[in-house]
Order: sequence, then C-alpha cells, then structure tokens
Amino acid sequence: MFKKILIANRGEIALRIIRACKELGVETVAIYSEADEASLHVKFADEAICVGPPPPKKSYLNIPSIISAAELTNSDAIHPGYGFLSESSEFCRICEEHNIRFIGPKADTIDLMGNKSQARKFANSLSVPVIPGTKQPIKSLDEAMEIADKIGFPVILKAVSGGGGKGMRVVESAENMAENLDTAQNEALNAFKNDEIYIEKFLINPRHIEVQILADKFNNIYIYGDRDCSVQRNHQKIIEETPSVKINSDMREKLYSNARDLAKKCSYIGAGTIEFLVSEDRYYFIEMNTRIQVEHPITEMIFSVDLLKNQILAHAGENLSEIVAEPKARGHSMECRITAEDPENNFMPSPGTIKSLHFPGGLGIRIDSHIYSGYTIPPNYDSMIAKIITYADTREECILKMKSALSECVIEGVNTIIPFQLKILNDKNFNEGKFDTGFLKKNNYQGES
Ligand code: ADP
Repeated sequence: MFKKILIANRGEIALRIIRACKELGVETVAIYSEADEASLHVKFADEAICVGPPPPKKSYLNIPSIISAAELTNSDAIHPGYGFLSESSEFCRICEEHNIRFIGPKADTIDLMGNKSQARKFANSLSVPVIPGTKQPIKSLDEAMEIADKIGFPVILKAVSGGGGKGMRVVESAENMAENLDTAQNEALNAFKNDEIYIEKFLINPRHIEVQILADKFNNIYIYGDRDCSVQRNHQKIIEETPSVKINSDMREKLYSNARDLAKKCSYIGAGTIEFLVSEDRYYFIEMNTRIQVEHPITEMIFSVDLLKNQILAHAGENLSEIVAEPKARGHSMECRITAEDPENNFMPSPGTIKSLHFPGGLGIRIDSHIYSGYTIPPNYDSMIAKIITYADTREECILKMKSALSECVIEGVNTIIPFQLKILNDKNFNEGKFDTGFLKKNNYQGES
C-alpha cells in the first residue's frame, strides 16, 4: 500500500481524497495555489505545499512544481482527482519516470481513451456503436463542409482532447460552419494545447447515460451501474441520478456489456466512466473519462461502495476480488451540483465570501463540499461549491428529499444555482422521468443559451 499520497487538486474532490486516505491509513499532502491558502484541503491534509500563483497553469497544472512537491515530501503516489491533470498522459508519464505512482490508468490507455477521436475509432473496431462522423480529425474547412454535407446538418464539432464542454460547437447549417470551426479550434487550443477537431452528427435531444467501471490489474472488471446525466445546461451536467429511469433491461445489458468490452480491451485499471448517448432505442458511445467523476457519489450510495478507496487500492496493486463484494444496487440516488452562479443574471459566476452557511442533514443526505462560513470563493476556478446527494428507496422519495434538502440550505454572501435547481425538481416532466439533454432548452428555462 502507498505510504503517502499527494493530491494534485483542490476543492471538494481534494477533501474526498483526503478522507479516503485517512480511512486507508495513508498520509496525505495537499498542494495549493496562493489563492487557496485558506482552503479546507490545506488544513485537513497532513502536509501542504504551495505550488504557485492562482492561474491553474502556474499551480495546479504546473507539472515541475507538483513533481518537486511530491519529491520533497517523499510521496509515493499522486491522486489527480478530476479536471486539471487527471487525464494528462504527459503528467502520468512524468510521474512514472520519477517513480511516483499516478492514480489513474497507464499513459498509453489515457492516450487511447482520453483522445476522443482515437476512442471513437477504438470503439468502432470493437463493434461498439459510435455516432456517424469523422474517423480522423479534420484538416480543413472544405473537409468539414464535405463531411457535414454527407452526414447532414446539424452537426457537432468537438475537440479531440475536449472536456467540460470546451471546444464544442453545434453547427445548424452550412453558413455557420466557418465561424464555429474557428471558435472551436481557438477554444480547444487555449484549453488543451491541441486544436484538433472532429465532427459528429448532432443527435436531437438524446439521453446521456454513463456506466461506472472499476478494474484491477488481475483482470477483474466491476460494473457499478449507470447514471443518467441528461439534465444539462449548455452541455454541462446539473443534476445526475442513478439508476436511469429511461432505459429498459435490454438496453442496460447492452451498455454494460459494451462498457466491459471497452475496459477489457484497453487493459483498464482503476475507476472510469464510459459515456453513451441514447436516442430512441439506439445507443452510441461518445467518450470515456479515465478518472473519478464529479457524480461518483450517487453510485456509491446505491451500491454502498467506496469507489475512491477501491480506486486507490486497485492502483496499489490489490486484487479487488478479495476486497469488494459483487456489485448489488439498492434504491435511488440523485445529485445536484451547487454552483456559485446567479441564475437570475445569465448564470454569471458569483465569487465572494460566504457570510453564513447551513447545510441540510438527515437520513439519506450527503454533502460533499469544501466551503465554510467565512470562506472566500476565489474567482480563478470552477464555480462548483457543493454537491448535494440524496438517497432513498424510490425516485419519488429521492426527489422529495432533494427538494427538502435544497430548501434547508442557507448559503449567504454569494448567489447560487439552488432556486434554478428547485424549479427543475418541481417540473412535472422531470418528475415523470420525461427529460433529455434538450429538456432545459425546450422548456424555456432561463439561461439556456
Ligand atoms: P465533454 O467531454 O466536453 O463534456 P461530451 O462529449 O461528454 O463533452 O458531451 C457533453 C454533452 O454534449 C453530452 O452529454 C450531450 O448532451 C452533448 N453532445 C455531445 N455529443 C453530441 C452529439 N453528437 N449529439 C447530441 N448531443 C451531443
């Protein structure tokens, strides 16, 4: 087992990792930027090292600084969390060169599955359905036009190295292609240092369904069910739930068996998510996230499993078949991502100081958050400040619990997305399970652009 893990992240996920390490008896090292000195992850870790100024490039993405921090503290592993360097094969290789275990799959696996265009090709080679589109990144505007004409508008342009909706543009017709291609390339270059773009047919209002997997080096692959993440604003998840109420057992079986195949054929180790879009009775692979995800707690609730601890154990070389029980789900779970944004003002980020804070509690309510009364949310990072997770026997009860939890929540000093979340939770169609990725737009919810 590892002796000391450095956490190359911040916010709630850094706390989540610290908690898992404490339960495993592993020491922790927090890294932080100058903007995060007063953060809980700095206080709760055994050691903490400042790795640079606030801009992520200078701190949380600053590989030399992070490796130095790991060497100085004698850390034998690095947990990258999600975002930042979690899907960087370069970082993974550098860690291994320095004899520090990267808590994620091997660099070659990240290269294969983290590059969306490569992953599409790989899935296609295993007869996993992919959305019609390009096999290679496109080389010119002419080529983009030719492909779009062939598959038919609307199409979606996507960054090969994309994530978080960056470098992604929907193109409705030929006359908008040039401008959108340019924007997508620029966004991708800025965010991922790679401006390669590929094209897919844009499906009209599909469901986003993903499958959680966990694997070890002994070829044990566990499937921890599915999550429905279709409630999205501008292609970003807002509410997630498990199990999906939309898919039938036949579809579920196909998604799980495809996910298992993909994980097996890329020799996957650790926690990962295979994402699909489901349209009518068809499904398509869109990408794999080779890391722990924001929404992993809802899976933990219904399977009564600690995915993070097991992810660490898998990377420490343990045989999971001696540790975990066969996955067995019970009940329903839902997560609301609470962001400091103003839903009344086009979701403008609302950084600032939390003047007073009260989180809900009670049976079946879990809060993963790094904020506290007096904490100042820095403007430099993602605006998510908490995840509120509910668990109950049925979906109906789970929604009631979530509504009660959100209305108990008091976060004074900044605006939050909570009133917007409550509107969705009160929506008749949402309650009846009638929603897809176009749900917010179709229902004219404020702010969906
Ligand atoms: P990212 O990695 O940037 O989050 P994804 O590829 O996971 O991007 O897609 C995010 C969301 O964008 C999906 O859940 C879906 O709502 C939408 N999307 C992506 N590809 C398509 C497509 N081909 N057709 C329709 N919607 C899509």
